[in-house]
Amino acid sequence: STQETTPQICVVGSGPAGFYTAQHLLKHHTRAHVDIYEKQLVPFGLVRFGVAPDHPEVKNVINTFTQTARSDRCAFRGNVVVGRDVSVPELREAYHAVVLSYGAEDHQPLEIPGEELPGVVSARAFVGWYNGLPENQKLAPDLSCDTAVILGQGNVALDVARILLTPPEHLEKTDITEVALGVLRQSRVKTVWIVGRRGPLQVAFTIKELREMIQLPGTQPILDPSDFLGLQDRIKGEGPKARSGRGCPHPPGSYQTGGESHGVGESTRAVPTGDVEDLPCGLLLSSVGYKSRPIDPSVPFDPKLGIIPNTEGRVVNAPGLYCSGWVKRGPTGVITTTMTDSFLTSQVLLKDLKAGLLPSGPRPGYTAIQALLSDRGVRPVSFSDWEKLDAEEVARGQGTGKPREKLVDRREMLQLLGH
Ligand code: FAD
Repeated sequence: STQETTPQICVVGSGPAGFYTAQHLLKHHTRAHVDIYEKQLVPFGLVRFGVAPDHPEVKNVINTFTQTARSDRCAFRGNVVVGRDVSVPELREAYHAVVLSYGAEDHQPLEIPGEELPGVVSARAFVGWYNGLPENQKLAPDLSCDTAVILGQGNVALDVARILLTPPEHLEKTDITEVALGVLRQSRVKTVWIVGRRGPLQVAFTIKELREMIQLPGTQPILDPSDFLGLQDRIKGEGPKARSGRGCPHPPGSYQTGGESHGVGESTRAVPTGDVEDLPCGLLLSSVGYKSRPIDPSVPFDPKLGIIPNTEGRVVNAPGLYCSGWVKRGPTGVITTTMTDSFLTSQVLLKDLKAGLLPSGPRPGYTAIQALLSDRGVRPVSFSDWEKLDAEEVARGQGTGKPREKLVDRREMLQLLGH
């Protein structure tokens, strides 16, 4: 009977959204089986390829994800690009439910002239480069200049500024790649400007992240006092939010050019004033946000918001299809925000399952997909494959006192796995 059917569920993407969705499904349904598809050879999404190397404590969530992946009702299927190697309709046919948790991989373009010039780099690519993302290894950023400018005032902007300004010997015991460390050792960058359109009340990082920046060894913050005029009074009028969290009154090296803030708090818009300043620099990193891509023509996509249109995680007009994480609510928020939102999607899915809204009768799950992938010459990797790569990385880091030396070459990784 339907009662005894094992619900076959698959999740697309193995970042926090994918893993937290899987964790919640497995915990709250005693028979459900969850397959996690991932295009990289390795799991954990931005926890591995986004979170800064000098914030190792943030990566502790990997321990929880590892527990989930080791469950005998869960399987990691890496090296599978959904939308290319297998389509979403094929997954929907093989599983009772499909959850899309594939994040926000594109960077938001500036859409201003000169964006394509050499020396203009997306912060996303720069972060991928120092964190060992295979596709960013050819970036070779030129740090032979004196001044770098970062456009954007979010936590990624601060991560990038911190990596540029931290004395390299302080990064030697982190999991930053050896190549990145080598380039940073040769860096001549002395000044980093963090440029925002709006004012100190609208920056999107926390006091803690700012303090870390101001306390960097051998570094001095430069603040323009005119940015802070009258701020005290405006903070008073704005209630506790501006004081407690994401709008903090002292951005480092904040440098407003040609803009003025109108309105209050986070809703403040920048309007051009016509004032223009020149800021000579040899490197420009744009860090003004991310956006998701459409994954498959069959899946609804809102190009304006850059998300999959959904209500509480149910993809609109697509029964049995769900979404969680950045692709569901847009690329903002930390790992815990992603956790809460993924648990909610899982709850909704389990509610639909209980209400009989998902297909009844058995579904083949991975058995069907495995046959398709094999026909197409795709060879997935498993979680125990990752554990081999993990052990290799840890071993390679040991000589130099690093927690790991990340493998960055796909071919070498496949070779180590005997593929
Ligand atoms: P992701 O983590 O991006 O995971 C998506 C996964 O889907 C990836 O593994 C990707 O490879 C995979 N995928 C994509 N397309 C496909 C496809 N077609 N087929 C199969 N798989 C696919 N949060 C904190 O709490 N603390 C921090 O210090 C912190 N630092 C950050 C630093 C940076 C630079 C960035 C960008 C973010 C940071 N965050 C931090 C935020 C945090 O990383 C996100 O909240 C979280 O990773 C979002 O989870 P997600 O699973 O939606 O996306």
